[in-house]
Amino acid sequence: MRNPMSTAREPHLPTTAEYDVVVIGAGPTGENVADRVVKAGLSAVVVEGERVGGECSYFACIPSKALLRPAAALAEARAVAGAREAATGSLDVPAVLARRDAFVSDLRDDGQAKWLKSAGIDLVRGWGRLVGERRVEVRADSGTTVLTARHAVVLCTGSSAVLPSVPGLAGIGAWTSREATTAGAAPSRLVVLGGGVVGCEMAAAWSALGSQVTMLVRGKGLLPSWEPFAAARVADGLRGEGIEIRTGVEVERVARENSTGMVTAHLTDGSTLESEEFLVATGRSPRTAGLGLETVGLAPGGRLPVDDSCRVTEVAAGWLYAAGDINQRSPLTHMGKYQARACAAAIAARAAGRRANPTPWAAWAATADHHAVPQVVFTRPEAAVVGLTEEQARRAGLPVRAVEYPIGDVAGASLLVDGYRGHAKLVVDEQRSVVVGCTLVGPGVGELIHAATVAIVGEVPLERLWHAVPAFPAMSEIWLRLLEQYGL
Ligand SMILES: Cc1cc2nc3c(=O)[nH]c(=O)nc-3n(C[C@H](O)[C@H](O)[C@H](O)COP(=O)(O)OP(=O)(O)OC[C@H]3O[C@@H](n4cnc5c(N)ncnc54)[C@H](O)[C@@H]3O)c2cc1C
Repeated sequence: MRNPMSTAREPHLPTTAEYDVVVIGAGPTGENVADRVVKAGLSAVVVEGERVGGECSYFACIPSKALLRPAAALAEARAVAGAREAATGSLDVPAVLARRDAFVSDLRDDGQAKWLKSAGIDLVRGWGRLVGERRVEVRADSGTTVLTARHAVVLCTGSSAVLPSVPGLAGIGAWTSREATTAGAAPSRLVVLGGGVVGCEMAAAWSALGSQVTMLVRGKGLLPSWEPFAAARVADGLRGEGIEIRTGVEVERVARENSTGMVTAHLTDGSTLESEEFLVATGRSPRTAGLGLETVGLAPGGRLPVDDSCRVTEVAAGWLYAAGDINQRSPLTHMGKYQARACAAAIAARAAGRRANPTPWAAWAATADHHAVPQVVFTRPEAAVVGLTEEQARRAGLPVRAVEYPIGDVAGASLLVDGYRGHAKLVVDEQRSVVVGCTLVGPGVGELIHAATVAIVGEVPLERLWHAVPAFPAMSEIWLRLLEQYGL
């Protein structure tokens, strides 16, 4: 896909301006902070150096799911006798890529910039950095401006891909998630370094679009922080689609051959691997470099410790906040937006003279970060998690009991997909009789996980959850089966 540095030029900037709240970064988190403080009656400006909408809209959640969905839809049709007979063709790759391009608005942010304006939020295009207490300098082609915040500066600059120190990596034009989500054609052979969520999803997407994919994973398997059964089923699914997964292996060096244009990776097991493209999906680090943290007494480029209202704890005067990927609490779009809502509520309350202590579950506390972070991996099968795995709960010293159930034995699942294969696990704190974790794997489970999130956040006693009757024949009957397994 072409990669326009979108964005219409802004008119000449004033040299100074004052707002109640200055937000750096117009990703999902920054947009939501600004929206909520404006709705609370404060004025806000957002500073954006690239595209309004951030990584999520153009290079992450949206394009990755747009690439994955057509193959999933086809597989769903083929999994049901009667429909299967009608779904005989193959994916129309150009149409898939065109649909992806439409979802990312051809990498143009005019629509989101228009939304900011309609929400009463000012936008200053350029790169922002702190230049002292409550002051942000923005450098843009059209000039330099200094924005002063009456109440708060909120850093929402997100994260960027980590490139491991593999000799040769800098010289091969390696893909990061940006290239993997925007590529205009499927490479003949693709190596994916890393077995986390991004690695799994991008391997699945490009394999379905025609690439021969090999995943290289340093550890024992994929998705290391997930329940082992979920990670194993995702791996089985990927293998079933023809993806090779090599575990326990690292890359010693890489080079792109001048003659063939192919990348050769030399692996620690002595073998070599050739590919047209080489995707690095080995994690992300917070974008704190160049933010002028040193001008307010913070270590440059480091991690920013925040409290539950996302206020940076090391800035005593309490005017600096950091929300979303930058604080690395729960680096997901929905959690960034949740932090944004909490953070904006805290700023508005404090601006009105209230202390707004971030006590658990207060409107200005992102408490769910500690207990209920839902995540879905959009592979085939899907996997979804919220809260703790059994091992994490035990390590935390909780007196837990786990129950499991094959989702395929639920009528709704077997009606959805012939021969449905899926599995569910519920982790229960026996002392409090509440759910603390849930993991599901199988077609369509991404839409089931919210029920578990509600149960965890609501700390709904199991005896009361028993009265939440799932509709028949829907997949949510899995809830009844899990509670029965528990002994209710
Ligand atoms: C391939 C991939 C797929 C993903 N899929 C999902 C998913 O399905 N669901 C999910 O919940 N999460 C997903 N994520 C994670 C999600 O993208 C991030 O959690 C989310 O984008 C974080 O939002 P943010 O607003 O904190 O940061 P970002 O979206 O990174 O936005 C930060 C913004 O700040 C701007 N900026 C940075 N520095 C400055 C500066 N100094 N001055 C001005 N502007 C600046 C950037 O240009 C950017 O626009 C995915 C990530 C990847 C890589």
